[in-house]
Amino acid sequence: MAVPKKKTSKSRRNMRRAHHHLKPSSYVECSNCGEMKRPHHVCAACGHYDGREVVATAAT
Ligand SMILES: [Zn+2]
Repeated sequence: MAVPKKKTSKSRRNMRRAHHHLKPSSYVECSNCGEMKRPHHVCAACGHYDGREVVATAAT
């Protein structure tokens, strides 16, 4: 097993962890109702995907 020769300094460790943040999740506008939705997901507000209703919603 490979073993580190030197202790990782606080600076090096923190530089590595500087990239550990989470990216904000992306949203696109629904083409049917204009609500913000996740890309490639069915719209939670109107149940539309790819220009047609695929999930029945209480509103419609
Ligand atoms: Zn929608």
